[in-house]
Amino acid sequence: MGLSDIVERIRAAERAAGRPQGSVTLIAVSKVQPLDRVEAVLAAGHRLFGENKVQEAEGKWPALIAKYPGTSVHLIGPLQTNKAKAAVGLFDAIHSLDREKLARKLADLAQTRGSCPDLFVQVNTGAEPQKAGVMPEAADEFIAAARAMDLPLVGLMCIPPVDDAPGAHFAMLRNLAERNGLAGLSMGMSDDFEEAVAAGATHVRVGSAIFGARDYG
Ligand SMILES: *Cc1c(COP(=O)(O)O)cnc(C)c1O
Repeated sequence: MGLSDIVERIRAAERAAGRPQGSVTLIAVSKVQPLDRVEAVLAAGHRLFGENKVQEAEGKWPALIAKYPGTSVHLIGPLQTNKAKAAVGLFDAIHSLDREKLARKLADLAQTRGSCPDLFVQVNTGAEPQKAGVMPEAADEFIAAARAMDLPLVGLMCIPPVDDAPGAHFAMLRNLAERNGLAGLSMGMSDDFEEAVAAGATHVRVGSAIFGARDYG
């Protein structure tokens, strides 16, 4: 457990998969974690974090980014259209683009600002009714529509169903990305990031294995 262990395990997984050292980017998922744990990881030199709620991120990151230059935060949770403006002002990447209305809103904001965070399209690889993400069979069309809006798509993201073995979901995401010419694959969490690296992940999102369990109490 801890940042350096996770970094070592990612490097080992890259070696085992015959992938270049450093080809996988670690997003330290800091949602809900107490500030002292987050600052300890910043003090250790890590500069890329993930949050799943706009409001929570707005409350803590502007001050931390000022204090630790070079820090980036990625949004990995669902984005409501009415929070899109705040999100593009804070995050360097958004991993949860999953519907046309949000795409149109982001395209409008990009036009006004002259810039847009990197975007990952979230795919609901398990076709779970309660989960965000475009359905796998709708992904090609959605990606084409987002590209037609000139949005900076960099990859795909998935959160496999908790009760499934993740391998088939990682493979499906990779396949969808390859046939759409997208290089980024945001997949793998604390319990399965090594398998995700073996399956081609470019971004792993690891929270509790770095920071310890989240206390929602
Ligand atoms: C919380 C979260 C993670 C990190 O989960 P851990 O199991 O703590 O590593 C990764 N991705 C998303 C989208 C999350 O919401």
